[in-house]
Amino acid sequence: MKLNTDVLIVGAGITGCSVARELSRYDCSVTVIDRENDIAEGATKANSGIVHAGYDAVSGSRKAVYNVTGAALFPDLCESLGVPYRRTGAFVIAFTDDEKSTLVKLMDRGIKNGVKGLRLLSREEALRLEPNLNPDVVAVLDVPSSGIVSPYELAFALADDAAVNGVEFRFNESFECVSTENGNFVVKTTQNEYVCRVLINCAGASSALIHNALTGDSLKIIHRRGQYYLLDRTASTVFSRTIFQCPSAMGKGVLVSPTVHGNLLLGPTAEDIDDPLDTSTTRDGLDDILKKAVKTWPALSTRSNITNFSGVRAHLETDDFVVGPVTGCPGAFEAVGIESPGLSSAPAIGLDLSRQVVDYLQAEKKASLKPYPKLPKPFHEMNDEERAAAWRDNPDYGTVICRCEVVTEAEIRAAIRRPVGARTIDGVKRRTRAGMGRCQGGFCLPRVAAILSEELNIGLLDIMKDNQGSYILDSTIDSAAERKA
Ligand SMILES: Cc1cc2nc3c(=O)[nH]c(=O)nc-3n(C[C@H](O)[C@H](O)[C@H](O)COP(=O)(O)OP(=O)(O)OC[C@H]3O[C@@H](n4cnc5c(N)ncnc54)[C@H](O)[C@@H]3O)c2cc1C
Repeated sequence: MKLNTDVLIVGAGITGCSVARELSRYDCSVTVIDRENDIAEGATKANSGIVHAGYDAVSGSRKAVYNVTGAALFPDLCESLGVPYRRTGAFVIAFTDDEKSTLVKLMDRGIKNGVKGLRLLSREEALRLEPNLNPDVVAVLDVPSSGIVSPYELAFALADDAAVNGVEFRFNESFECVSTENGNFVVKTTQNEYVCRVLINCAGASSALIHNALTGDSLKIIHRRGQYYLLDRTASTVFSRTIFQCPSAMGKGVLVSPTVHGNLLLGPTAEDIDDPLDTSTTRDGLDDILKKAVKTWPALSTRSNITNFSGVRAHLETDDFVVGPVTGCPGAFEAVGIESPGLSSAPAIGLDLSRQVVDYLQAEKKASLKPYPKLPKPFHEMNDEERAAAWRDNPDYGTVICRCEVVTEAEIRAAIRRPVGARTIDGVKRRTRAGMGRCQGGFCLPRVAAILSEELNIGLLDIMKDNQGSYILDSTIDSAAERKA
């Protein structure tokens, strides 16, 4: 099908959703395509969820500038969208004098980058604040402005807000090639052909390929996988802030961090891999995490491990973000090589890229905006009176579907009915936390599948766990019996 849109954004990760939301404030038509079947299916769904303060990136780099500006936007942004965010602070820990001098360098760099509140702590001060820390630490960099966020929930909220203000999201649609015609781009995807004035490349792992298709350059992304352990809430009180070890050339190293939902995260590894879609975990990778994390937390126990996962960083050989207009290609804009601190930077990249696009299109601000459809307070956070009132309004609050995380039928139905609603089991899981608990969906999965089937009016055999093709059921009992006969 041939479709017209003023702006076509490729990629519905945190970067594409941030740009889309900013552009939804202006008088232009915006379409976002993604090759996967939901928002945040790339690096955005599998990272550490840290809103970095900005001491780590080389001063003057785009990473440093977007990180510090982006991190400052998080508290208000998350508050306005009802997304879980906490300014927990972070420690960077040193075990040797060499590492202590790295802390001093990081502090100097952080101050240069505009990070506030950095200070060096003695071993004693650090252990007083974090008693489970390895007593062998010799010094600690205290980073009070570091925070934690739910990265995919932020992407969902940005997408919902963009969608109610006119942005169209289209899934299972992969960018294939681009040409120009009468000053417009003609973009062929696996489903359609788009004619657009502006093309914005936010394609994460594929962003260099699209850049090269537009310019003839040969930017190269190295796909760097990071694996994790996720421990359940019984480990939630071990550390109150994110604990980093000293960074290396491969990244920020293995961290131990609370999550906004009260879990504890250990990881990530940093392994260069060939296939950007290979989000498997390996025994070697997981062992490597334990070997390193135990240095931070000597009493480390994986008894409360509930799952392992991995995400893939889009590391550019040039080691900085490429953000802005594509040189020699008027109307094309890009965010390429958005690895860490890409989550922390997303709100700033969204603002910056959208300003450039608005200038290019000479688009006017909309006279009014539709209000963001606020997320209901999670049932598990309600007090008894609130629960009773919610149930009186909607009896589906009376049925708890996920017992581990106490998620009700009402919340699951609401997540499916959002502007860019859940379409899969994991889409429901990331939006509501049904299936995120200790049993990892063992109990609630069939019930979530039944609700999805009813809400979307599709058969149970068509329900997917996550990515396209990840069907859960193979056949009905009747059809299996028929096949056997
Ligand atoms: C292990 C790990 C840990 C990290 N930790 C942190 C952290 O703590 N803090 C932080 O700030 N950052 C962190 N990051 C970085 C952060 O996760 C990324 O920078 C950010 O998620 C990138 O978002 P994005 O939207 O640019 O890319 P993605 O989220 O990858 O989105 C790109 C989208 O483009 C789509 N796409 C790709 N190719 C095509 C195509 N051909 N056609 C259509 N669609 C396409 C994909 O399906 C995907 O949805 C981490 C990353 C990893 C992997």
